Parts: sequence; structure tokens; C-alpha cells
Amino acid sequence: MIKPSKPDNEQGRLQALQSLDILDSAPEQGFDDLVAIAAAICAVPMATVSLVDSDRQWFKARVGIDDAQTSRDCAFCAHAILQPDAMTIVDDATADARFSGNPYVTAPDGIRFYAGAPLVTSEGFALGTLCVMDDKPRQLEPYQVEAMQALSRQVTRLLELRRVSRALGLQLREREWYEQQLQHYQDELEQQNADLAEQTRTDPLTGLPNRRAFAAALSMAMERSLRDGQHLSVAMLDIDHFKTINDIHGHAMGDEVLVAIGGMLRSQFAGNGLAARHGGEEFVLLLADCNADEARLQCEFVRQSIAMLPVGLPVTVSIGVAQFRRRDDTVEAMFKRADEAMYAAKRAGRDQVVVG
Ligand code: GH3
Ligand code: MG
Ligand code: MG
Repeated sequence: MIKPSKPDNEQGRLQALQSLDILDSAPEQGFDDLVAIAAAICAVPMATVSLVDSDRQWFKARVGIDDAQTSRDCAFCAHAILQPDAMTIVDDATADARFSGNPYVTAPDGIRFYAGAPLVTSEGFALGTLCVMDDKPRQLEPYQVEAMQALSRQVTRLLELRRVSRALGLQLREREWYEQQLQHYQDELEQQNADLAEQTRTDPLTGLPNRRAFAAALSMAMERSLRDGQHLSVAMLDIDHFKTINDIHGHAMGDEVLVAIGGMLRSQFAGNGLAARHGGEEFVLLLADCNADEARLQCEFVRQSIAMLPVGLPVTVSIGVAQFRRRDDTVEAMFKRADEAMYAAKRAGRDQVVVG
């Protein structure tokens, strides 16, 4: 017996075989059918699709053979792949130096006849063979040789199809991964946009809505008031002598006063209306369902509540009130009238509410 040598392109050949991901895979009808046809056409009891791995031959499909694999050293097919361009046909293995001492030949009912058609890929790698065997010596007719060659091309085509579908599967999985990533970034972007939108509507120091958010809310309240006929008022609230508070107690203390007043206003207007920071030491109030008198009463309550805030220093505010005038009134016009009323309160001695 002569051990089969390795082809010159063995490394690339093994890589090509690995890339099919077929070794030790489950039986497949397509391959099973082709070996059955090969055995039938050649009228032999044994046929396989044999793939020659580094140390073994493994059968993707087989008839008349129990073992799923054999060592490469004893494999007829390992010899056959050394001649990729031709079939290897052994009429009687006992008379062939390569196989005469082979354990599969010397065994009881051992192999006598072998014909293997190499499975050659489009890159020229002989991965294995489609082969037929018999325990009696025999010869193939030319039509059987041609059929074996045709069938081996079909096996090779099946193998290459498998590689293409695997590559497609990989591409699909990659695409799914990219799509997931894209969704992830989109979610993040949406969150960032939501944060930004929140930031542009909220005063960072007090957490109250800012002037812009208030103007939008007031505009909607005005439309509602026009529809349902309910009164509506706004109030401008300015801390008295706040500069002095900053000067005497420090800017940080000034911030604490702003935060305390902000908190008080938020809880006061949580259910109805809206309080916002207009800017600096000024706040603005939306007094829903209030005419000027009702608004003045509410602002009076706010003024007294602020005077009683436990901030460790006396804090008073001046408040100007403006009622919504249905005819041709605007957000800016209401702000302006409330502002003027607030300045009137300042001039009148501060710490009071004036209705414009
Ligand atoms: P008036 O009673 O006439 O309103 O006097 P005032 O001192 O309150 O008014 P003025 O407009 O002279 O000063 C407002 C001060 O408010 C000046 C400014 O430094 C201070 N200020 C504005 N925003 C902030 C802030 O976010 N934090 C602090 N600590 N101070 C602020
Ligand atoms: Mg001011
Ligand atoms: Mg002030």
C-alpha cells in the first residue's frame, strides 16, 4: 500500500473546504440522491461523496458503507484528488500497488473496484470525489464514466451553491446588525433632541418653564379663552431690591432666593395656571379663569406667601397684573401691560400688587 501524498495546493484546498462549513454536517437529500444515482448507473453496491480533510476523508453522503469517515492514509479518494483532471479508476485493487495492502482491501469482502471522479471547484481545488466501489473487480463502460463525470459536476455545483447561500446568509445577518445599530443611534438622537427641547423650554436654575414656554402656553390659553369665554390674566412679578440682596448676601444666596420663590410658585400653580421664570429676578404668572380682580387676589396671596418664605432674609416682590382683552390682544401686549403695572407697583413703594 502506498500512502497518498498531499496535493501542492493543499493549504488553499483545505481553506476552500473549511469555507463550505460542510464537514460533519447532517445528511442532505441533494447529495444522497446523487450517490444513489451513481451507484445505480454503475450497478455497484457502494458509492459516496467523500471530502478529503487534513487527516481524514468524511462522507457527506454514502450508500453501502457503514463508517462516516476513514483515515486519509487509507482513503482511495485521497489518491484520486491528486489527479484532479481525470477519474481514478481501479479495476482490481489487489493488483494496484497503491491499494493492495490497504486494510479496506484486505478485509473480508474488501474493496476490489473503485472509480472516483474528483470534485473540482471553480478555483481548481479538488475537495474530494464522487466515487463508486464494489467488492468484485469490474470495469466501467464509457457511458458510466461519462455519467460519473457529469454527476461529480452536479455534486460540485451543490457544494458551491452552499457556499453562496452561506455568504448571502452572512450578508443578511450583517445587514440586520447594521440596521440594529442604526435604530440604536436613531433612538439616542431622539433622546438627545428631546433633552434639548426640554432644555430650551426650561429654566435650568429653578426648573420652571422659561419665557419661551410661557409665551406658547399663554398663546394657547388666549385662544381657549376666545373659544370658551373664560377670563384670563397674567402677572409680572419682580423681586424688590434684588441687587442689594446679591450685594449684601452674595450671588449664591441670591440664587437660593430665586430657587425658593420658584418652588413656591410651582406648587402654587401646579393645578391651575402656570408660573415661569421670565428672566433675571422676574417671574411671570398665567392666571387661568381669572378676571383682573380675581387675579389681584391671587397675586396678593402670592406676595404674602413670598414675604413669609423661610429664606433667612426679608424678601418682597412687586406684582403687576394685566387682564386679557379679547379684541386684538397679543402675548407681547399683555406682557407689556403687566410690566407697566409692575413698575407702577415699584413706584408706589414696592411690596404690592397693581392691576394695569
Ligand atoms: P428693583 O426693586 O427696582 O427691581 O431693584 P432690583 O435690584 O431688584 O433691580 P435691578 O434690575 O437693579 O437688579 C436686578 C438684579 O438681579 C441684577 C442682577 O445681577 C440680578 N440677577 C439677575 N439674574 C440673577 C440670577 O440668576 N442670580 C442672581 N443671584 N442674581 C441675578
Ligand atoms: Mg427686574
Ligand atoms: Mg427687581
